[in-house]
Amino acid sequence: MADDSSLEGLKDRLTALQFHVTQEQGTERAFSGEYWDHHEDGSYHCIVCNEALFSSSTKYESGSGWPSFFEALDSAKVRLIDDLSHGMTRTEVRCAKCDAHLGHLFPDGPQPTGQRFCMNSASLDFTPESAK
Ligand SMILES: [Zn+2]
Repeated sequence: MADDSSLEGLKDRLTALQFHVTQEQGTERAFSGEYWDHHEDGSYHCIVCNEALFSSSTKYESGSGWPSFFEALDSAKVRLIDDLSHGMTRTEVRCAKCDAHLGHLFPDGPQPTGQRFCMNSASLDFTPESAK
């Protein structure tokens, strides 16, 4: 858990929604975020610490209204935690570097992984692929 001073700094830097999602395990409304219908080539970084977490090459249309990926850029970049809140058994996904809440992982994704990383746009910052 971050100390109060760094939390205050984050509050200044992030929007209220970004803060709520990443620090209070919030969830943005489906179809409301910046990236669920975003199709450019590039990478998605943690909004808090800027670590690259997902690639557009693993992003797919899940129909959920949240940006969905079938694989993380590197499995070591995300931390998976059992989440028993809201009367459900889910797997929470956090940034391994700064512990920001990103979203949840479900076992109903497409091949080759069969996984669905259901992320919040508010947790991510998109970086376009640099010019070749
Ligand atoms: Zn992070």
